[in-house]
This record gives sequence, structure tokens and C-alpha cells, in this order.
Amino acid sequence: MSGNEQFFGIVRKGDFYVFAPQHLEGATVKLTTTWIEEPHATESGVIDLTEFEGKIIEVSGRDKGKWIYSAKVVEEAGPVLSDFLKRVFLKDEVRVKRCALVIGHEKESPGIINKKRNVSEFEFNEQLYLLLEKRVKHTAIYRVLRRSYAELPDDINELDPDFIISLHCNAGDSKTSGTEVLFYHKSQAGKRIAEILMKHIVQYLGLPNRGIIPKTSQDECGLLLRYSTAPCVIVKAFFMDNDTDVERAMENPEGLADAFANAIDEVSNKVRMEHLPIGNDIFI
Ligand SMILES: [Zn+2]
Repeated sequence: MSGNEQFFGIVRKGDFYVFAPQHLEGATVKLTTTWIEEPHATESGVIDLTEFEGKIIEVSGRDKGKWIYSAKVVEEAGPVLSDFLKRVFLKDEVRVKRCALVIGHEKESPGIINKKRNVSEFEFNEQLYLLLEKRVKHTAIYRVLRRSYAELPDDINELDPDFIISLHCNAGDSKTSGTEVLFYHKSQAGKRIAEILMKHIVQYLGLPNRGIIPKTSQDECGLLLRYSTAPCVIVKAFFMDNDTDVERAMENPEGLADAFANAIDEVSNKVRMEHLPIGNDIFI
């Protein structure tokens, strides 16, 4: 058919989101098989794109306003071209963010133990991880177990995550109660992540908000915060030596996992990530 143009784009929620030609870049249009001269038939000729959802397709036709007329799906782009076009045109919009979820301590050396419930930090947080991993919707979760504390930052950097959450619990005088989230003092992204996690956890647990706390590399747990390059926070959701805190945290494991999962998805969607340089002394 003469006068037809070629279009490239992705199918999103049943519509065609155009990458090229340039004058239509970023437009969302519908496809119809009808001719432009038959305006009343436009709807009846609409092409159902369900089978191409999320795929990059090439279309031929003539564009006018919100429609491409005399439209035909010519072909679906292969995986290599699709990946390239998505990266160019959608940038990080379609890329799922990667979260490294670190379970604090180790099986053999499990951190703080609550004697009443006979549960350790490691056991509690491993269970939390298993529940929240299933609940996260827009983030790829990578579980990180500690080989040794010294090797932890390098192990995480090798995964190349977008952000890092390390799960711990607090300990005090068995009466102190509440939630803390630690972040590296030079990281704006870390601070935003800490705020979002704090908001969701306090909303769910209802324990005192003890604040988001900036840490330097000299502080305890500073090594992980400083030497992992992606923004990193350490969550201490409650006090493991406070029986009331522990009861609250263990009351409904799914509820707590939901709070974490929602926080992680919100971080993925909202926080602009920035990585720290390695081995630069001004970042102490
Ligand atoms: Zn710990």
C-alpha cells in the first residue's frame, strides 16, 4: 500500500507506545485496520495487541492523531534488538531494580538471641526474607549470606545491585523499644531509602520511631555502608532483647513481610540511585 509509514514501539497495556519515527516518539496510539477516510469505522477495526503485550513491534500504516490507520503488525523484534530499544527509549523505566538483601550474621554465629522465644537475629531475618521475597512485586531480590564480614562489601558489589538492605535487630537494656534505620552519611539515596523503610515499618509495627541514623565508615557497621558502592541501609526493626518488641514483631510474620515488601517496591519506584566511588578518602 502506498503512503504507508513504518513505526517502532512497545505494546503497553494494550496500546502502542511509539519509539520511532521521531515526530511520534513517546506518543501512545491505537491501531486500526480501517482507512483514514472511514472515521466511523475506526473503532470496529481496532487491532487487539494483547498477544504482543510488553513486546517491541514494527507496524506499518498511516498516523493521524491517536490512531494509526490501515495498520498492520509487520513483525515482532527479536530479544537482542528488543533489549537494546528498551534501554535506549525507556531507559530505566522498564528495568527492574535489583535489591541485595543481606541477612545479618551467620547460622553459626546468629547475633542477638531472644531467650523467651528462643529466636536469633539470623533465624528471624532469614524467615522474614523468605516471606517478603514472595511479596515484592517490582524488584528483583538477591539474598546475600555472609561469608565473613570483611568480604561482605565485595561479595555484594559483585552482584551489582541498585540498592542494599541489611537485616538486623537491635539490643539494649531489655527495655528499650523501637525501630532504627542506619545509612551512610554521604549518601542521599541511602537517606531516602532509610526514610521509606522507616515509614513502612513504623506504620506496621507501631513501635517508637528512633530515627534514621547517619553513620561514617568509622562507626560499627560502617564497613558495609561505606564499601558497598550501591546505596545501603541497615534495618534494625525492633529490639531483640525486649520481649514486648519481639512479641509484636512475631505476631503476624506476613504483615511485617508485607510492610518490607511495600517499602522495597516504593524504593525501586521512587529513589534515584547513585553509587559511591570506591577507595576515595573524601568519602570517609
Ligand atoms: Zn545484628
